[in-house]
Amino acid sequence: MRYAHYCESCDGRSPVRYTRHDAKQDRADHRHQHHGDLRPADRIEEVPGFLSATAGALAADARRAAREGVRAAGRSSLISRILGETSMKQALRLLLGGVGVIVVIEFVTRCARH
Ligand SMILES: [Zn+2]
Repeated sequence: MRYAHYCESCDGRSPVRYTRHDAKQDRADHRHQHHGDLRPADRIEEVPGFLSATAGALAADARRAAREGVRAAGRSSLISRILGETSMKQALRLLLGGVGVIVVIEFVTRCARH
C-alpha cells in the first residue's frame, strides 16, 4: 500500500509515499508551511498499488457479472419454458420422491440399529 496526504482546504495532495510515516511527514510540513501549524481538514489516504487496484477491479467485475447473470436467468424465457414443461415437472416429482424414499430408508435402518 502507498500513502498520500490530502488537504481539503487547499484541495492539494502530496506525492505518493511508500510509508505512512513519510505521508505524515508531508502532512506536518504542509501544516507548518501553509497553515501556521494549525490542523486543517486533511487526511492520509491509502493509494492502492497496481496489483491491488487490478484485483479490486476484477472482484468488482465478478460481482457485477454474478448479479447480471442471476437477473438474466430470472428473465430467461428458456428457463421459464423448461420449468413449465410437464416432463420437467414429472422429473422434479420423481427426484423429490426418490429423496423421500432415501430419507425413509435411512430412518428405518437407523431405528433398526438402535
Ligand atoms: Zn492545506
